[in-house]
Amino acid sequence: MAIDLEKGVYLDHAATTPVDQRVVEAMLPFWTERYGNPSSIYRLGRDAAKALNSARERIAGILRADPSEIIFTSCGTESDNLAIRGAAFAQRARGKGNHIITSSVEHHAVGHTVEQLVKKFGFEATFLPVDHYGMVSPDEVARAIRPDTVLITIMYANNEVGTIQPIAEIGRIAKERGIPFHTDAVQAGGALSLDVNALNVDLLSLSAHKFYGPKGVGLLYARKGTPLWPMQTGGSQERNRRAGTENVAFAVGMATALELAYAELEQTNNRVRALRDRLIAGVLERIPDVELTGHPTQRLPNSASFVVKYVEGEAMLLSLDMKGIFASSGSACTSMSLSPSHVLTAMGFPPEIAHGSLRLTLGKGNTEEEIDYVLDVLPEIISRLRAMSPLYQPAA
Ligand code: PLP
Repeated sequence: MAIDLEKGVYLDHAATTPVDQRVVEAMLPFWTERYGNPSSIYRLGRDAAKALNSARERIAGILRADPSEIIFTSCGTESDNLAIRGAAFAQRARGKGNHIITSSVEHHAVGHTVEQLVKKFGFEATFLPVDHYGMVSPDEVARAIRPDTVLITIMYANNEVGTIQPIAEIGRIAKERGIPFHTDAVQAGGALSLDVNALNVDLLSLSAHKFYGPKGVGLLYARKGTPLWPMQTGGSQERNRRAGTENVAFAVGMATALELAYAELEQTNNRVRALRDRLIAGVLERIPDVELTGHPTQRLPNSASFVVKYVEGEAMLLSLDMKGIFASSGSACTSMSLSPSHVLTAMGFPPEIAHGSLRLTLGKGNTEEEIDYVLDVLPEIISRLRAMSPLYQPAA
């Protein structure tokens, strides 16, 4: 099968995914015919409320949660903010303390939120270190717990290097100590189990656009009884936990996308993992001075991330773009920044190496031909860029 370079080879599924056609179909009626406000009491409103509740039930089924524990939000970032601010303020108001534990490799939606709580609201925080693979140690979590710890927030899988954290184990420690535990599962959604009981989590954030749903809708799972202040006040929607007229079409889209992802999970993961392994093996074999970043086995099935020495990440991306390949150098949210990735530096990479980061994240639309095409053009691109680098000394 020939590659359609007009369309391009999309290898940035950690940034976002195309919306599945079946999800588009499921959403369409809620903008045109079934457009009621779910809070209205007449038939059109009741119909919208029914669709919203059904979306909530379908999602709760996948998370093994109660539908009342699902709060729809506008994105993953909002879910993280609601979980962290909501729990931190509620806990402090109950006199529980003001110390938060997190990791040094979180997405900025978590990291910057915790930082602001420290700088502007008088909280204290421990940012746990990670090992060379980006892994948080459950023992370190246990050691960081203080009598005034009010919240632990550790991501499920990392968006830059794909490392999967030992969430169930960390959750067990948090549970034993009676501390609410939040996980940012935005990258894990659609790829890993989201069983909130097996994971021992009290709060879990998801975002639909990472699993072939629309951008601009997320959810927070909040276990019954978890202290949580609303961060947005107004109407009594979402059981007073998130005011604002619900986006019914997007809630239906998110539920449909999540259901499809979990119905097809094994098939998608096996296919994507095989392509990913072919890509990793090819890159390491054909290009000298490249290191795989993230954990070699405990990583998302679609994630291939590297540091390429003596090359700037941005230069690689522009050259790849000219060949019709869409990739990333770290996370999409930090791609406008000139400072090296906080994830790679926390993993011990010096800034000059972290600058050469390349993230290729696969999806269900990728083919073997596309991977082979990348493996053909990438070595040429890198040798050309290195030939221009004053730092590069090819092995004699
Ligand atoms: N958390 C992680 C781990 C992410 O990768 C992202 C998005 O890239 C987010 C949170 C934010 O999600 P959203 O784009 O829906 O705000």
